Order: sequence, then structure tokens, then C-alpha cells
Amino acid sequence: MSAGLDSATAPRDGTAPHSVTTLHSDVEELLDALAADRGREALLHRDRRITAGELVDSVHRLAHALDGRVEPGRVVALLAGNTPEAVVARCAVTLLGAGITQPHEGLSAAAQARIVDDVEAPLVLADADAASAAEPVLALVPGVDVLWLGPHGADTDVTAEAATASTAPVRGRARPDAIEQIRHTGGTTGHPKGITYTFDHHRRGAELRRRGGFGGGDAGSRLLVATPVAHVGGSLADRTLTGGGTVVLQDRFEPGAFLAALERERITHTFLLPPLIYRLLDHPDIDRTDTSSLRSLVYGGAPAAPRRIAQAVERFGPVLAQFYGQTEAGGISALSPEEHTRPELLETVGRPIPTTGISIRDADGAPVAPGGRGELWVRTGMEMDGYWKQPELTAATVVDGWVRTGDVARQDADGYLHLLDRVKDMIVVVGGHVYTSELEDLLMEHPAVRHAAVFGVPDDDGTETVHAAVVADFPAPSADELTGLVADRAGDMYVPRSIEFVGRIPLTGIGKTDKKALRAELTG
Ligand code: AMP
Repeated sequence: MSAGLDSATAPRDGTAPHSVTTLHSDVEELLDALAADRGREALLHRDRRITAGELVDSVHRLAHALDGRVEPGRVVALLAGNTPEAVVARCAVTLLGAGITQPHEGLSAAAQARIVDDVEAPLVLADADAASAAEPVLALVPGVDVLWLGPHGADTDVTAEAATASTAPVRGRARPDAIEQIRHTGGTTGHPKGITYTFDHHRRGAELRRRGGFGGGDAGSRLLVATPVAHVGGSLADRTLTGGGTVVLQDRFEPGAFLAALERERITHTFLLPPLIYRLLDHPDIDRTDTSSLRSLVYGGAPAAPRRIAQAVERFGPVLAQFYGQTEAGGISALSPEEHTRPELLETVGRPIPTTGISIRDADGAPVAPGGRGELWVRTGMEMDGYWKQPELTAATVVDGWVRTGDVARQDADGYLHLLDRVKDMIVVVGGHVYTSELEDLLMEHPAVRHAAVFGVPDDDGTETVHAAVVADFPAPSADELTGLVADRAGDMYVPRSIEFVGRIPLTGIGKTDKKALRAELTG
């Protein structure tokens, strides 16, 4: 191996040098599964239906075309949406032992450019299908090498090169301690937080997920992915393809198109963030869509309102399962479909999965008394390898093998976890704290409230005032009716100073409530 490669794979934080042994990585397992059943329908996107054989050939062809242009140990940036090209590119890059980062399309061009810059990407792969989104990002990172996936003027189209390349399998070059993936959270301002996984870690995480009972997507399962493949949707797609199923990719979540695909493609599995479930329930097509093929609707990634989840159970049947996890920490807890038949459990995020240990601690890191509230610390065995180039932040977040989740929680006597808020979203008011998720759930208990979001605005005295935005049915309840409900149930401290009735709560590219955007919209 050349000295150049060694230095390229050396960790930037000065920790132990990389080993040169390679491992049979997740992507090889995925490709093996595709090659074993070439005729199966693997990936559906718009009007394309791609078989497992075509998919595995495309990955090897692209890996041949990228060979020598992608170095093991370096991180390639992928500017792409939810397309087969993005899936193929990610597989080809990781097969060659390099890492990948795919900024969410929903981020601004400046935020995506900061990510490309931050990971020191020697190469950007840009999907020609998303050229208008990629071009402004590329304009901000001059000097970086760019290869286009698809035709883009006179620029190099690596997909065209790959079309004539060999389909002979490329042997995986993954080294256990080289970076496989960096996923970014935040990044709308300042230094993006890059959550880093090595090949080895990712693999061990996959093993634990299997043992934790999250399934691998069995043969015959048909997964609909309408959330970014760079987030949970992509991990589930990989598991479905490896397990023998079919993945239907949509460019973005649009409730009408989602319902249509559900019926047309006889979808069996899907994943959604709670606000997206609310949009499905509120869509006029919900009553005329045949959703009887659905066997599993997993939701998570953001707080879910019990009343709205109960509605979803009523509409979709006993197929809802909640998952609580975090990019930094991995899987934490789950609420099974059977548990969804007990309304009181919908107020919880379920019980810790068998392989996860939890501890609820006060601000000094000392465990609180049983049943008490505090920050949730977890040990999952599938936590990140650290934040990219931010050793202090990593040390503050992963302490003695425990990940500090930044979530405020309590565990009840039956072992169920109740999530109250993100520590940073909690609103400090005169006399205490307001937990925003708790207040949102309360507002959504009103039968006419479809969605609610709560945020704090700094006051002159160092505290904050509580504000809410509400999407309601017509005729909408009055603000007084809602504040009355809050005062009755939670006390005056929880009563918002203002309640705005809005047409829609802004969501991030992933589908979480975008509190920053909301605050900016409502407070100017
Ligand atoms: P991310 O790493 O972007 O997936 O965000 C993880 C965060 O989303 C967690 O720390 C929680 O604050 C929130 N979250 C994830 N799953 C759930 C859930 N089931 N219920 C409530 N909040 C959740």
C-alpha cells in the first residue's frame, strides 16, 4: 500500500493508526443479496423499475469508473436527492472503501457547501437530476473536483463512463476503522455537526439492530421511502434490499403522491416522521385510498401527539410502531403495534430495546431518583465514533461509553420512557421550565387542532415567553378556548402568551418541525 493512502486514512484527531485489513461490509452484503436474486424488482422510482441484477451491475460499473478517483479513507460528498443514482453512488463509493456524506437537500446552498468544505471532500458526485440544487452549492466550493451523475453540459458524466464499464464484481476495500459515513445534524448556522461512523462501527450497529428485533425487511416486503435517503429512510432501504424486498423511492414527501403509491404499489412497510403522518390523515384522499397492504408503519424522529397517533391506528390498523433513536446514539426504545392498543402508552416512546442501557441524570451527571426527570444518557453499542473534527464536543457528548442524548425524559414504574423535550428547546419561564413537546401534545388534544408547535422568545429579564402556532380545522377554536385547556391541564405557567393560527407548520427537509423557521416567520 502506498504511503499516500496511509496518510489519507490516518485519523485526523491523532488517534490510533488504521489497520489495513478489510472487512465484508454492509454494502457487500447488500450486493450479495441482490446478485443472488437478479430478477427481483429492487428499486422503483418515477416510471423506472430496476431489477436487483441491474442495480448490482450499476454499482460495480460505477465502482470501476470511480476506481482510482476515490481513495479509501477519504470522504466523498454526494449532492443528490432520493434517486436510484444516489443509491448506486453511495454503494459504489463505500465499496471502494471511501466514506460518503450526503447533505440533506432541504439545507440551504451555503449550509451544504459548509459540509462539503468541512469534510475536505476531494470529490463531489452531483446528480444531474438535481442540478439546479447542486449548482449553487458547487459555486461556493470552487476548486473541488466534480463528477456528474448524468449529463450536465460539457462536464464529465461518470454515469455515461460507467455504462460501458465492466460488470465484473469489485472486491470491497472497506477497512474497519476508515470512515464509512458522516451524517450532519444542525448546520443551518455555524459549524455543522458531522456524526461519524467507521465501517466497523456501522457493521456492529447493524448486528445489534438485527438482534434488537428491528427486522431486516423480509423477502416480499415493499418499502415506500419518501423521507431523505440520507436519514433513516436510507438505512431502511438498505435493510429491505438486503433482506430480499423492494424499495419504492419518492423524491420527496407529498401526501397525495404518497397515498397513491401506497395503494398502487401494494406497499407493506414505510417510515414517517409524525408531522408527515398528520399530513396524510388530513389529506382528502385518505378516505378513498386502499391501504390494506400496509403491514408496518414505523414512525419516530420527532415527538408524536397521542391523539393523532390514535387516529392513525384507527385509520391504518394495528400496524403502527414507534421508534425512538438518535443519529449520535443509535436505537434507544420502541413501542410495538400491540402496545398501540393501550391509549395510555401512546404518551410514551416505549421501553428501551433489549440491547440499550439507560440512565436518567441531573445537570451534574448524577442519576436522579427513580421516576424523576432528567437528561437521558444511553449506552447502545451502536453509538457514533464521534463528531467530525470536534473532539471537545465528542468528549462532552460521549462520556465513559454513555451518550448524552440532550433529551429530557423520565421512566415510569413499568419501564416506559416519557420524553418531555430537547434540553435546548425547553423554555425557561418565570417560575420554572415549559417542556415544549408536552405543551404541543396538550394543544393537539383539542379535536380541532391538527398540528401545534411551541417555541420561546427571549424576554428582557433573561427568561423567555411561550408562543404557539396551531393548524386547526374550520371553524377553529378560539385562542381563549385553547389557553383555557392549557391552564386547566398544566397550569398558568404553560399558557402561551400568543397563539397564532397558521395554514401550515414549516418542516425541515427530513420532516421535523422547523422551530427556527417558525420563530423567524412569526416574530420577524
Ligand atoms: P436525529 O438524530 O436527527 O434522528 O434526531 C434525534 C432526535 O429526534 C432525538 O434526540 C429526539 O429528540 C428526537 N426523536 C427521535 N425519535 C423520537 C420519538 N420517537 N419521539 C420523540 N422524539 C424523538
